[in-house]
Amino acid sequence: MLQAIEGVEVALLLAHVDGPFFEIVEATGAGKTVGSCIALAPEVTFPPAGRSTSDLRMPTAFTLMSDKRPSWIGAKQLTGTGLRLVALCSHNPPLLESQLEAAAATMAELDRHGAKSELERLQQDRISALIRSLPVPFVFVDAPATDALINADARSLLKLSSTEVGVEQIASALRHLIQSQGNAALHHQLTADPRAAAIFYAHDHGRTYKVDTQWIDDGLEGRIWTFHDITEERRLEEELRVLASTDHLTGALNRRAFQLAFKSEIARCRRYGVPLSLIMLDLDHFKRVNDTYGHQAGDMILREASNLIRSSLRDSDIFCRFGGEEFALLLPHTGMDEGRVLAERLRYAIAEKPVDVGSAMVPITTSVGIAALLSPTDSIDTMMRRADEALYAAKAGGRNQTVSAP
Ligand code: GH3
Ligand code: MG
Ligand code: MG
Repeated sequence: MLQAIEGVEVALLLAHVDGPFFEIVEATGAGKTVGSCIALAPEVTFPPAGRSTSDLRMPTAFTLMSDKRPSWIGAKQLTGTGLRLVALCSHNPPLLESQLEAAAATMAELDRHGAKSELERLQQDRISALIRSLPVPFVFVDAPATDALINADARSLLKLSSTEVGVEQIASALRHLIQSQGNAALHHQLTADPRAAAIFYAHDHGRTYKVDTQWIDDGLEGRIWTFHDITEERRLEEELRVLASTDHLTGALNRRAFQLAFKSEIARCRRYGVPLSLIMLDLDHFKRVNDTYGHQAGDMILREASNLIRSSLRDSDIFCRFGGEEFALLLPHTGMDEGRVLAERLRYAIAEKPVDVGSAMVPITTSVGIAALLSPTDSIDTMMRRADEALYAAKAGGRNQTVSAP
């Protein structure tokens, strides 16, 4: 249950005194103590490194609600019970201590009146309220699979109608979710070991969810499921990956990424005896182009040339901006003759199409060197050297030509 105490969000839960929660909280306290509350020192992660969130039993829910890391933890023993009331709070709570006292007193009062079931009901109500208020899709199915708690986000994710849904429908939707993701092994694992914890990924309507499921038996016993929408994270990761591996002007691979790709391609081609060729292509007199039309025009030409090259390649070809106005192309499954045909095609295409830089149409020519994988002992270095020498020969021979390395 999320309770707003004068604007401070506090999570409360009941935990068994001998549960793992306190052991962990006490071990990680390492901070200021105010009454029965411990401030977690800034360097302490919660849950602590090396401990799984499942050690805290209902942890995913709690760590999530307090911005993943509570900064204060308070606990109050409930007299005459094996339970302690635990509060997690993400701010310095002036009222946390008294809130704990008041909540504990209410519970003790209920207990004194023999209202054991009332205490349990209260706990159940609070857990239901907590689940409803969680900002992520959340499902709890109890141990005998006779009862379930589900919040609106999870209902919509599992495509369950907003009216009362029964535990069978929820369990079946979860089963369907696992199976629809082609996760038969996971389904068997959860069937074979009902207490197994698992993390898997589910895709739905273009969004990706990290699904975390684990067994809990602290007060409540059963299985919880949480769903994290990681679509944005994935997109950013992909964006960073692309940024780190490509040249921003032309979108071609950068040299480092090219070298990695070259390493795996040469190994593969050597292993399977597949031909491989390497083309080095350098724009002619580019310094003069820059001097005449300006650096910006030079950039436009570099982009145009890259687009032209890229549009002639197959998906499996690897295209790199090797240096300023020098490009490298790695062509798997392509021997010297075929590589030469492509090189000549590119050279003609570039020469035939002057680039419109606004102030002028600028004719461009290229010189090309090409080398093929000769033997299983050929290496990246030797292939690069031969292609480079061939390119040099093309320049020396008058430019605007292709030379094949011997
Ligand atoms: P060659 O025919 O022998 O290759 O002559 P070149 O002038 O093309 O060769 P050189 O290596 O002397 O000069 C390369 C020029 O490419 C110099 C540099 O200003 C230009 N250049 C390198 N990177 C960029 C870039 O990102 N943008 C622009 N506009 N020019 C670049
Ligand atoms: Mg050049
Ligand atoms: Mg150059």
